[in-house]
Amino acid sequence: MRIPLVAANWKMNGNKAFAERFFSDFDLQAIAAHVVVCPPFPYIPLVSQVAEDRERFSVGAQNLSQESSGAYTGEISAEMLLDWNARYVIIGHSERRSLYGETSELVAKKFVVAQQAGLIPILCVGETLQEREQERTLEVIANQLKAVSDIIESDTWKHSVVAYEPVWAIGTGKTATPEEAQDVHQFIRGELGNVGEQIQILYGGSVKSANASALFAQADIDGALVGGASLDAKEFAAICRAA
Ligand code: PGA
Repeated sequence: MRIPLVAANWKMNGNKAFAERFFSDFDLQAIAAHVVVCPPFPYIPLVSQVAEDRERFSVGAQNLSQESSGAYTGEISAEMLLDWNARYVIIGHSERRSLYGETSELVAKKFVVAQQAGLIPILCVGETLQEREQERTLEVIANQLKAVSDIIESDTWKHSVVAYEPVWAIGTGKTATPEEAQDVHQFIRGELGNVGEQIQILYGGSVKSANASALFAQADIDGALVGGASLDAKEFAAICRAA
């Protein structure tokens, strides 16, 4: 049985007051899913303090360095995230790939470094609008997964989460239909080999409380990675309750 998981990606939003207020407004009552909140780096300690007090609630980071230490100005290592009690880390978000030039090879290295340190990577994959229109969705996703499969033992996938985030659905208000998302999730599960059935596969891209239930009703959608709607504690709690 896969436990539903809903992760918040705050991106570069909020401040200390926002983070504090969020948890006074966020009510874990009636939420069966595991909840992960990924704030900007400086607020990880604050969120992990809250996380310590609560069951089924973890803190995550939005990125990490592929290096373990050294002269890498501005970078943050897996060990540092562990020091802050982070348990998850988002890897290969499409904004990292498109705005910061992260290739699938670099993303794969980060995946391995995160896992070896004991963090659970949330690996993001997804196609652009152009790729979908060219009917290359599955090929693009297969390649993004293959970059990781090429450098890990296939069993290792089981200590990870995959998030399918069609790039055209992120922050645009357009979501894949539940059926479109299900097709891709089923494909991803197949690509993950024998451990595919055990891995939580999240959908991301304009998820809100109004569309969450229909997405979560699909057989291979185990939860969501939520951007914009995760900045509203009540809306995010409603999404979590739907999972
Ligand atoms: P969104 O972002 O929910 O605002 O579309 C999702 C994400 O980027 O993870």
